[in-house]
Amino acid sequence: MENALKIYQDTTKKLKAFHLAMFLHGWDSSTEAPSGCMGFRSLQLGTLSEMFYRTNTNPDYEAAIETLYQSREQLELVMQHEIVEVRKNLIKTKKIPLADYVAYSELMAKVYPIYVEAKQTNNYELYKPYLRQIIDYRIKYLELQKTETMKGYNIFLDEFESGFNIEDYDHFFNTLKERLVPFAKSVAKRKLIYRKAFTKKQFSVEKQKAFAKYLQEVFCFDAKRTVIKESEHPFTTSNGTTDVRITTHYHPDNLASAIFSCIHEMGHGLYELQVNPALDFTQSGGGASMAMHESQSRLMENMIGRSEVFWTTHFHKLQELFPKEFKNTTVHDFVKYVNQVEKSFIRTEADELTYSLHIMIRYEIEKLIFSHKADLDKLPDLWNKLYKKYLGITVINDTTGILQDVHWSQGMFGYFPTYALGSAYAAQIYHAMNKDLNIEKTIQSGTLKDIAQWLSTHVHQYGASKDPKTILKLATGEDFNPNYYVDYLIEKYSKLYEIQ
Ligand SMILES: [Zn+2]
Repeated sequence: MENALKIYQDTTKKLKAFHLAMFLHGWDSSTEAPSGCMGFRSLQLGTLSEMFYRTNTNPDYEAAIETLYQSREQLELVMQHEIVEVRKNLIKTKKIPLADYVAYSELMAKVYPIYVEAKQTNNYELYKPYLRQIIDYRIKYLELQKTETMKGYNIFLDEFESGFNIEDYDHFFNTLKERLVPFAKSVAKRKLIYRKAFTKKQFSVEKQKAFAKYLQEVFCFDAKRTVIKESEHPFTTSNGTTDVRITTHYHPDNLASAIFSCIHEMGHGLYELQVNPALDFTQSGGGASMAMHESQSRLMENMIGRSEVFWTTHFHKLQELFPKEFKNTTVHDFVKYVNQVEKSFIRTEADELTYSLHIMIRYEIEKLIFSHKADLDKLPDLWNKLYKKYLGITVINDTTGILQDVHWSQGMFGYFPTYALGSAYAAQIYHAMNKDLNIEKTIQSGTLKDIAQWLSTHVHQYGASKDPKTILKLATGEDFNPNYYVDYLIEKYSKLYEIQ
């Protein structure tokens, strides 16, 4: 056991060193690297990933994991959880025949440009045979991975959100169907009246950057351990708790875009920063799950960042930076602008109220695909029918319909539902936090220090050392309950749209 632990810890150190190399490469290639460098670099990356694979599948390491697993009761709690997870992933990896793995990787590389072309030219037929191949591979994968306790689509759901299955998600989405769908339809019929002149103005990127710096202070995004830069698509990446990096994208004609993407990514980043630093040396660092991570970004972006009290506290700073652009604009105009509900075809542009309905549609389709009840020839019709049913809109073409998301072309099924679950976790966590703190008062103080501290104690510190269901229960005192989310949305939008 002593020896096994030593082998495990030594290998963890090596895997962490690989992580550093991949982290720096990933960051660099999205922000700074010249486009011409990728050919040479990809050869070096190939060597690195082969070294990584060998380290990860070293027989001594595997034997050590098995020894530790067999005597896991004697391990401390973090290691107990970690060894179960690491062993689970190793078993899954080994179930895939190498030939399948290689063929699937090749297919993925081939599909991406075809997917892009199909999307650009509104041509589902071009994409369909490849989608069929991807789905066939994924069905084969499910066959390989099935166990006595888990099979089918549940395997994908569990990979993205450990412990969540079809039953859990059905309960969640049925709540949305019953309570949120009719409410969202009644809101979409109404219009928010406010002065819109500022929405047509141009906003200097330099001043937008100055506002991002200001937000960094407000959100306690520690400048000594963080970097904020620009990239095409905003993202967060980290190397432990001492190096957390986010990107944003500035648009001169859309001020809100950079503000909310920056707050969103800082929410992800704050989570990474506040994990217990001792976990940096383990494989239990970072966030607990996809949905738990998304809960932290959406709590900051939507529940705090789009709230009235946030802007009554901070709008003066925007006015100071953009006095001409915001002439004759009140904070109420601005709050309405950042919360208006619009019928949208595109998930990534959806407002806070209807976002999870876009996800619900994808979840229903994925469930049908993996229970062999979806006809791929008619998939766009199914997509359009569900948009009509739940969002009340008529999809005009496949580019803005079924071809809009990259996920399925990359074989990612079971991922979408975590986006909606994250928002629902956020509402439940917010509700619990509001019992301990007066959140509105805290926001008015100008800094979110107390909120960051509460999240650190109740959610962030655990990193991935516990599963998301356990963390949610520790933080909120109860199991997942989707009604907090629907209650929050109905209360917020009833007030905004003056619905009794
Ligand atoms: Zn996110």
